[in-house]
Amino acid sequence: MTSTINRPLPDGSQPVARGKTKRIQIRDGRPHACLITTGDWVTAGDGAKRKSRHGLGELRTTVTCNVFALLRRHGIPVAFYERWSETTFVAPHCKMIPLEVVVRFVAAGSYLKRNPETEAGTVFAEPVLEFFLKTTEKKFDGTALPVDDPLLRFTEENSFERAKLYLPNRPESEGQIEDVEIRRAQIVQGGFISEVVAIASIQALAPRAALVLRDAWAALDATLWDVKFEFGIGPNGHLYLADVVDPDSWRLVNKRNGQHLDKQPFRDSKSIVDLVGLYAIAAYLSNQFSF
Ligand code: 5GP
Repeated sequence: MTSTINRPLPDGSQPVARGKTKRIQIRDGRPHACLITTGDWVTAGDGAKRKSRHGLGELRTTVTCNVFALLRRHGIPVAFYERWSETTFVAPHCKMIPLEVVVRFVAAGSYLKRNPETEAGTVFAEPVLEFFLKTTEKKFDGTALPVDDPLLRFTEENSFERAKLYLPNRPESEGQIEDVEIRRAQIVQGGFISEVVAIASIQALAPRAALVLRDAWAALDATLWDVKFEFGIGPNGHLYLADVVDPDSWRLVNKRNGQHLDKQPFRDSKSIVDLVGLYAIAAYLSNQFSF
């Protein structure tokens, strides 16, 4: 297992990005690698509920490092070199693709809002793959949108040239966001990899990675309902499964007692202290991923 010593970040580390729970830094003279530090904050309801508890960042980092090591053992290219400290790991510095890539095995969450005819808890015969466009302050590439993170559907089979956007919480038949068409080139900006290859590779890699994770959790008596991945293009021009994969990224349910090992209980009014307990179980179990 990776070391969890409390190691300070190297001298000359510069922040390059900051998210709701993460900080990305690069070191002077070493632009190809970055340090990803996960904090103790947790948010729900688009940031309306926000709490912090010491230990959450370390538990999330443990899970991300275990997930990336597992996926790598199964041949998935992951943006992960090594754990640096309790709350930090080192990764190739990727240019992130602004998509949230969700793979679902069980119907829950926003899927039910878009597909109200589906009963909650329905187990899909095949994994369901969905793309959501990552936006901030309801804007993408200068275009104003009615919501953040709309569902994105490529409109031409196997060409991925253009995509349409839909409200994430309405049935698609009534939720199309009119007059906004996203082109593939707006989502994946070159590098060595072609845009078509990047999207086609994500379509193949995301379900593969989710199946590896689902099986690893099943061996530990937990059911993976869904998971969100993000992808990026590394300094070598290759596509990686990047960012973090921690209990904020999935719905995961303990088969024995129905307990959620994810953020759902916090969204549904459980306290931050309860959440730390659940994340500790997820971290403890993820130390036992065995293949
Ligand atoms: P849903 O679309 O049902 O709300 O979410 C599907 C899955 O993706 C859930 O496991 C959810 O936790 C995860 N997910 C959706 N949006 C985000 C996000 O912005 N950040 C993170 N970490 N996970 C997300």
